[in-house]
Amino acid sequence: MTTPVPVLCGVELGGSKCVCLVGTGPGNILAQTSLPTGADPAVTIERIAVLLREWRRAHGPIAALGISSFGPLDLGTRSATYGFITSTPKPGWRRTDVVGPLSRACPVPVGFDTDVNGGALAEGRWGAARGCHSYAYITVGTGIGVGLVAGGRPVRGFSHPELGHIRIVRRAGDSWQGACSFHGDCVEGLASGVAIEGRTGRRAADLQPDDPVWELVAHALGQLLHTLVLATAPQRILLGGGVMHGQPQLFGRLRRELQQSLNHYIEAPEVGAQIAACVRPPGLGDLAGPLGALAVAADALTPA
Ligand code: ZN
Repeated sequence: MTTPVPVLCGVELGGSKCVCLVGTGPGNILAQTSLPTGADPAVTIERIAVLLREWRRAHGPIAALGISSFGPLDLGTRSATYGFITSTPKPGWRRTDVVGPLSRACPVPVGFDTDVNGGALAEGRWGAARGCHSYAYITVGTGIGVGLVAGGRPVRGFSHPELGHIRIVRRAGDSWQGACSFHGDCVEGLASGVAIEGRTGRRAADLQPDDPVWELVAHALGQLLHTLVLATAPQRILLGGGVMHGQPQLFGRLRRELQQSLNHYIEAPEVGAQIAACVRPPGLGDLAGPLGALAVAADALTPA
């Protein structure tokens, strides 16, 4: 007799849409619904709560709920605002309690993490980081997010890391002020989709592969990869999101930037002969985000 695979609910809160799904994994999604994130969190969260109650009746019992969200988030389980979205620049969503109302709608073990940590966990469970215990999953889109797994778990301190906002060595001659409303020229401020549009006046997807802006973007992202390699020696660095998806030529540039920046200091195949297998696209494509919420749910069943 085999053990039944638990049915999980996942909620991925994104900047423009929320994806809710119920299932056991990529091969068995029982239902999936998207709804706009909107400007009024109370309305959106109530709609999700109604959906979760329906799914408990239709597909239950539900073993766990996973919520992966844009951040920053309060992940301190002893904090009075655990489960809240905190200092987001997204209008209307600052200091929003997410876990409270959704866990009342679906009273099962609840996992809560960033959207990029969710994507990272999904890649580790089902995608391009299977078999790895330490790796990074980066999304380069409107913003830049980094999901970082070490020892098989997302890295946690008082909260989650925010490596998209590290300060970097700027490329000589690049004096553009940067797009981050908090730091100006952090990685996100110099290389996100918003930064690319600010630098060129055009959307990243509309730019030619040989546009000069890609050198600047690759230089900034190469510095981020340099820091990741030195900080956690990741077995994989997966890069997804709208900007990477639309400009696959960036992978070659990024690998070169990383190697030039490291300057042979690290002697390992992951940043040498096998760099193309290490610095690569995610395996789950656009599904990494929604499946991330299911992966967060699955991890809630096996607490550290
Ligand atoms: Zn920043």
